[in-house]
Amino acid sequence: MQKQWVYLLDEVEQAEKAVGGRWDDVRALLGGKGANLAEMVRIGIPVPPGFTITTQACNTYLSSGGNFPEGLWDQVLQAVTELERQSGHTFGDPKNPLLVSCRSGAKFSMPGMMDTVLNIGLNDETAQGLIEMTGNARFVYDSFRRLVQMFGSVVMGIPDDAFEERISACRLDAGAATDAELSAENLQQLTDAFKGIFRHYTHTDFPSHPHAQLKMAIEAVFKSWNGKRAVDYRNAAGIAHDLGTAVNIVTMVFGNLGNDSLTGVALTRNGTTGENRMEGDYLINAQGEDVVAGIRRTLDLVQLKTDMPDIHAQFEQIARRLEAHYRDMQDVEFTVEKGKLWMLQTRSGKRTAQAAVRIAVDMAEENLITRQEAVLRITPEQVDFFLHPQFDREARAAAKAKGTMLAIGLNVSPGAAVGIVAFDADLAEAWAKNEHKAVIMVRPETRPDDVHGMLAAQGILTSRGGRTSHAALVARQFGKPAVVGVAELNIDIKQRQMSINHEIIKEGDWISIDGTAGEVFSGRIATMIPDIMDAWLMKLLSWADGFRRLGVRTNADNPEDARRARLYGAEGIGLCRTEHMFFEARRLPHLHKMIMTDLPIERREALDALLPFQREDFIGLFRAMDGLPVITRLIDPPLHEFLPDHKELSHDLTDLKIRLKHADTLEKVDTLLQQINEKAHILKRVERLHESNPMLGLRGVRLGIQLPELTTMQVRAIFEAACTVAKEGVEVHPEVMLPLISHVNELISQREILEVEAKKVMHEQGIEIDYKFGTMIEVPRATLVAHQLAQHAEFFSFGTNDLTQTTFGMSRDDAEAGFLIRYIGTGIMPENPFATLDRDGVGELMALCVQKGRAIRSDLECGICGEHGGDPKSIALCHEIGLTYVSCSPLRVPVARLCAAHAALQDHCSCAVEGIQSAMPV
Ligand code: ADP
Ligand code: MG
Ligand code: MG
Repeated sequence: MQKQWVYLLDEVEQAEKAVGGRWDDVRALLGGKGANLAEMVRIGIPVPPGFTITTQACNTYLSSGGNFPEGLWDQVLQAVTELERQSGHTFGDPKNPLLVSCRSGAKFSMPGMMDTVLNIGLNDETAQGLIEMTGNARFVYDSFRRLVQMFGSVVMGIPDDAFEERISACRLDAGAATDAELSAENLQQLTDAFKGIFRHYTHTDFPSHPHAQLKMAIEAVFKSWNGKRAVDYRNAAGIAHDLGTAVNIVTMVFGNLGNDSLTGVALTRNGTTGENRMEGDYLINAQGEDVVAGIRRTLDLVQLKTDMPDIHAQFEQIARRLEAHYRDMQDVEFTVEKGKLWMLQTRSGKRTAQAAVRIAVDMAEENLITRQEAVLRITPEQVDFFLHPQFDREARAAAKAKGTMLAIGLNVSPGAAVGIVAFDADLAEAWAKNEHKAVIMVRPETRPDDVHGMLAAQGILTSRGGRTSHAALVARQFGKPAVVGVAELNIDIKQRQMSINHEIIKEGDWISIDGTAGEVFSGRIATMIPDIMDAWLMKLLSWADGFRRLGVRTNADNPEDARRARLYGAEGIGLCRTEHMFFEARRLPHLHKMIMTDLPIERREALDALLPFQREDFIGLFRAMDGLPVITRLIDPPLHEFLPDHKELSHDLTDLKIRLKHADTLEKVDTLLQQINEKAHILKRVERLHESNPMLGLRGVRLGIQLPELTTMQVRAIFEAACTVAKEGVEVHPEVMLPLISHVNELISQREILEVEAKKVMHEQGIEIDYKFGTMIEVPRATLVAHQLAQHAEFFSFGTNDLTQTTFGMSRDDAEAGFLIRYIGTGIMPENPFATLDRDGVGELMALCVQKGRAIRSDLECGICGEHGGDPKSIALCHEIGLTYVSCSPLRVPVARLCAAHAALQDHCSCAVEGIQSAMPV
């Protein structure tokens, strides 16, 4: 039997049968437009008679080097006959002509595909017949000139300007403001002129035979699948090249038949806010693309209620019907011909993140979809959108069009920021605090002493550094938009200016950065702030909480972050990095002293001075997290990180020595000598602390073993704080965690210190507190000896950044700034393992570790506190492995809640998401 290349719009059941029943496959066969037209016919919505030529026909045509597959043309002619029967008109009949449109339509809507050609079937004879039939010569010549124009530009590739210029000239001649004012005569002349243009460009006459028109149009659609624009788009969007496009041939209905006719487009709900109210535009006495082309001013759909109340009511009913059927907001195209409404297209409508959330929640409450589906419909990116200021969409597009985009760097911390450039932290802070200016802090790279400026700034821009650079980490932690590693950026701190690709920007000039996209613009771009407390988002996330099994905690080092994270739904602190607290100006000197001294008594003194600060920090955290667990990690980084940089020190020292040579008073000599001594002392210490590989050196638990007093001080601070707050009537759950454990004996020795000190404090304070003791898991050995560790640890927390580094044996900074780019580019690694957990290696170790640990201690709490805790794919993996919780930065908490729910829901119905995306009709 011959293959079926053509399906009438009322043959959707046959198509379904042919592909085995799945709606997604129907769409693949008939294209999105064709499948949805057929579906509308099936549910009794008025669609003009038509048929669809399958994507298979297109593919066969293309692979055969441009021949119609056997039987296709016959099937087309047969289908045309059927359209004639259904419509009562005949293709090419001068007395009673049938006209059709030819429309492309792939599985996914796609720019670059061939534009629609309307009014196929018109020629001099049928035009005459149509005039007799309608008594409306103006309408007929309007349709005819459109056919010549569309056929000319779309099928034959004649530049559209050639036609448009002629229309303008014609309007001018006729003294008409819009096309609507052109007379039948004007339009008849225009049709002739267009035929002349056609001849001029193609050296052939406009094809007058309707069959020739139809066949050429169909072939042009087939060929457009391999057009450059379509291929480029598919490459960019990751759409397969072998899908092919379908061709839809649809009986023309006319919106340009007079003032009781119109054409329009609409969304069944507001695409910007999500409000449950139709929005749309229409044009009276117009055809097709006029509405979107912006040639004439369109009318608001609301107007239709007064203009044609019956049609409006009918349309509203159809819109509801379609929404209920597809269970999603629809984007529809329609035409009214002499008071009769026809639907010409439906598909699920594009929407902003806000609208997506509101529509999903509303639809669940209208019982159109389930709450599970509502949660599954929202993407992590859409939730993330609510957490940062964003550029206004139109303003950004305008800026790009104007060419004010300067460069693209690494998008390390999302959100948009606009401000004046400040090249150092003090100035940034001064401008922001004293003069209330919006500032973007721009540095080659940032250091701990820059943090006050970064906090005061709206955003951060650096020319160096990668995703784990100081700037990136601080920016993410504090939710500051940041773009780093903009290599084209040349900063001249002395001249107080920077240049990007020959453009000079001076300190105080305005720039705009987008940390979501990594884009840098000169000038100001308008921003808008979506609201995290959006009622619909809150509701959606509360539904998500009901579905997820993973807990969600936050990484927070200060009460303010803790409170914010709690507001966002965090269920505890998964990681408090105590070392961040030391960087504050009042504390750093004590820490320096502690590091510099060799005398135990001096070290004691320094630690005693630090204790009250740490205690205060913890008090704030415990209060903020009332009733929720707080994991504090004892000091982790190598000590040299707290001291000045070696290069800087030697530089300062040389500087001082030169000044000494030129000193002209004894007093000056004295002070300089003293300064030189101090610096030299620090430099010596820094040199002594120098390690060839600090990442694998004296850090983590090794510090506490080297300097037990440090552990004692930190434990005391934690427990004094916990006792104090508990006495206030607040519920405290301290959990103390050790970093970089590789051997069980490390754990045992530190646990001893902890227990002695904790008991002591609780005794002094006269109160008992429930606490947990646990370990980070961040080297492979720890995962392998998890059964030993679990005997002494009540919880595990995966530090997946270090675990990834040590599993791969690569340092993140070196990898990301260097070879990893090539690895990913050439497909040696599918993605950056520091951004998304490596399932096969690191994930396997984690799974093994959890299994071994829980075999010893069945209630072992296992979590993750690396940056991966906020990454959607990594969260799914954590769910699979059976972790207790993920912990991430406050701003990722809402995203993690959603992703954890997705992971749990997909466990139950792995097809849920796919089913929704293809909008399976019920
Ligand atoms: P696109 O994919 O660009 O939306 P369409 O194939 O939907 O292209 O066609 C664009 C417009 O042309 C439609 O919105 C509709 O207004 C008009 N159109 C297409 N086919 C017909 C038809 N058979 N009768 C009347 N108008 C039509
Ligand atoms: Mg359309
Ligand atoms: Mg670590």
